[in-house]
Amino acid sequence: MSRATRDTSARRARARRRLTDDCNLNSFHGFGLAEPITRALAEERYDAPTPIQVETIPLVLRRRDVVGIAQTGTGKTAAFALPILDHISANPQPSQAKTCRVLVLSPTRELSAQIAESFRIYGRYLRLHVALAIGGVPIGPQARALARGVEILVATPGRLLDLVGTGAVSLDRAEVLVLDEADRMLDMGFIHDIRRIVAKLPKHRQNLFFSATMPPAIAELAREILRNPARVAVAPSASTAERIEQQIVHLEASAKPTVLAEILRGEAVQRALVFTRTKHGADRVTRALVRSGIGAEAIHGNKSQNQRGRVLAAFRDGRVRVLVATDVAARGIDVDAITHVINYDLPNVPESYVHRIGRTARAGAAGTAISLCSAEELPHLRAIEKLIRMAIPADPRRARPAPAKELRGKAESHQHQHRSRGPTRPHAPRRDAPASARHELAMVPFLQPKHREQSGPSARPPRKQWRRA
Ligand code: AMP
Repeated sequence: MSRATRDTSARRARARRRLTDDCNLNSFHGFGLAEPITRALAEERYDAPTPIQVETIPLVLRRRDVVGIAQTGTGKTAAFALPILDHISANPQPSQAKTCRVLVLSPTRELSAQIAESFRIYGRYLRLHVALAIGGVPIGPQARALARGVEILVATPGRLLDLVGTGAVSLDRAEVLVLDEADRMLDMGFIHDIRRIVAKLPKHRQNLFFSATMPPAIAELAREILRNPARVAVAPSASTAERIEQQIVHLEASAKPTVLAEILRGEAVQRALVFTRTKHGADRVTRALVRSGIGAEAIHGNKSQNQRGRVLAAFRDGRVRVLVATDVAARGIDVDAITHVINYDLPNVPESYVHRIGRTARAGAAGTAISLCSAEELPHLRAIEKLIRMAIPADPRRARPAPAKELRGKAESHQHQHRSRGPTRPHAPRRDAPASARHELAMVPFLQPKHREQSGPSARPPRKQWRRA
């Protein structure tokens, strides 16, 4: 072993020891959070911190910049909200008109609303003003809420820039920037808005950056924004992923409506989230379900904020059993007890599969993810299986394959197109695995639990560690 490798290992071992010394991993009390915060947590029945909280809270309390690979459902919001609230509580300051002390940016209205709500819940015994700045609703009340200044401002980028543009808020007093779901921000075209916002922040600030995946463009953005960040990464809760039973149903595209209805009529389906690739697809699937007597609602970007809120509330309290969503709209959905995630269309971005199935098996529950795959979608399936490094078992009971020759022809023609565009994918899925087999997403390298605290710029891991497998 070279001396440099020995030094790095020793430094990592010291960092791990420090982390374990810092907190009793089984309880929130070990972090030394202010009493009003632990009181709120006790009332919320948060007994033990989740892995991302164990890793992130001590770092944020030490005022480090943090880059975290974690997705919604891992307890990531509390991981940044609790130490931020502790900082606010330990350093009270008189309100300054039209400013905020903490700025949280998130890609969707729903997610922003949930983050703001979480700050309110965890901070309910603190003197605290939390404001929400999202599009799709009138701007006037948001400007008024900022008039006296707030401790926490949670915003989507476009509306925040509107508010800054009209002088309703200035960002020059922000002490902390949180960028949540950075990969989604990029997907949704917010990169320029983010750069404009960051340019308006004071140079000296703490930065917390979270993303479910770390493609090169996101790693680049993180490098621009963060200073000597500590890095944390967790699976979408390994124990959660273990509980997701994944299945593929091979079928002709025209059989999808019938098979979907069949699945949803199953007794085990108590609350299901159905994903389509497009907004029109979501509407079409919803109409077909309703026609076949299955109550369903759609949620996507063409719906007004009020409609989305109403539909989500109905889904959350069980009045609607089936919600049909696009990837973007589903980002902010934090609903426990979703028993089934059904991919009506396979996503063409393989990471979206991981996001989607992470919607079930939350809060310790079991869950099933069923994907309907037509011959045209086989290349997407291959890309997903390559990313998650496992073959998803096929469910032969529901299969409605096209005649074998046709199916093979379509798949081959797709494979051919695929090959002509790039290198071949060596992964050959095993189709004989038992349908009930349980698989661990924790196998995905970028989702594996890791903690890499670094003590200096030289300790930055080589870039390739941030690339996906
Ligand atoms: P998030 O990943 O922040 O969207 O959180 C997912 C869900 O887990 C939310 O419903 C939180 O209220 C809940 N949660 C977060 N941390 C804990 C915890 N330590 N114990 C119990 N529930 C938690």
